[in-house]
Amino acid sequence: MAGVYVHFPFCAAKCIYCDFYARVRRDWTPYVEALIGELAERKEFLQGVPPTTLYFGGGTPSLLPPELLKRVADAVRTTFGVEEFEEFTIEVNPDDVTPERAAAWRAVGATRISMGVQSFDDAHLRWMRRRHTAAQAAAAFATLRAAGFDNLSLDLIFGFTGLTDETWAASIAAAIALRPEHISCYQMTGRYAAPDEESCRRQYRMLQDRLRIAGYGQYEISNYALPGRESRHNSAYWAREPYLGLGAGAHSFDGDRLRQWNTPDIDTYVASRQGGEEWLSDQEVLEEKLMLALRTVRGLDLSTLTDDELCRLNKTTLEELSRAGKLILEKAVIRIPEEELFVSDWIVSRLFPEYRA
Ligand code: SF4
Repeated sequence: MAGVYVHFPFCAAKCIYCDFYARVRRDWTPYVEALIGELAERKEFLQGVPPTTLYFGGGTPSLLPPELLKRVADAVRTTFGVEEFEEFTIEVNPDDVTPERAAAWRAVGATRISMGVQSFDDAHLRWMRRRHTAAQAAAAFATLRAAGFDNLSLDLIFGFTGLTDETWAASIAAAIALRPEHISCYQMTGRYAAPDEESCRRQYRMLQDRLRIAGYGQYEISNYALPGRESRHNSAYWAREPYLGLGAGAHSFDGDRLRQWNTPDIDTYVASRQGGEEWLSDQEVLEEKLMLALRTVRGLDLSTLTDDELCRLNKTTLEELSRAGKLILEKAVIRIPEEELFVSDWIVSRLFPEYRA
């Protein structure tokens, strides 16, 4: 399995909390030409494996005129000889959703829309400098459904200064009421993160509990889905499947140990597509396998590791974490229990060599 990710680093305005490289500008055509040029240059990167998923992320891909999105999607199809993708996602913002655009995204071949809502509280949306209200987000959701999308995802944010448990519960309830197939939920980081770790942990547990009761299964630290509606494209990242990333700031991975990236600067990308690459060492490959698989509730099947990797696992730490209830060791699988996923970064970091006693 392989995927193609296309990055559109353009936004209509910057949200207050966002650290992504995204620029408020509209010179899209040269950027799209550069994307198509990069695709032609790098089509061998996937080594003949045809992509099964396509993901347009950003930034805000929904800002782009649909005819430009179509040019890119058609170029990916033609380059790899793929007629339809198993999953083709476009990230959108509610303020860009109109019946005409939704119909155009369907016509482009998108099968899935991921909509950044972040909150269903208008005061928080204003503070975040989002360009929509909660009612507009719900209306955009209805518009996407009316256009025929049967695979919709919503993004929410928790753990920020001023978010009370009551407001958070109301946002979760509003998201559930829309009945999307998928919900992603991220903890605020940086200067607007709530200083109180305990309230963040409580909000994370509220989310887990309420989504479980509503029928959503958690399959990764930040991701929940109705049965069978997990994101295939993102699941492939955690399984270390190969993907080709196109566009300014995009990353690519060959499925083994080569990681490449493009410069995040739009002008440099359009002019000369500079970037870099890194070949992972044996130790880095092992650390990646642990780090990515333990993000998922499925965990890591130790039988997929090489003999050398098994020897290098820190068994003492594994046993300590298991005794402390931070890790579950079942047959050949290690995984982090759902109630400890909130501190998964800390747990995984304990397995890395610099923490070895
Ligand atoms: S629209 Fe998305 S990518 Fe753009 S600034 Fe807001 S959060 Fe960041």
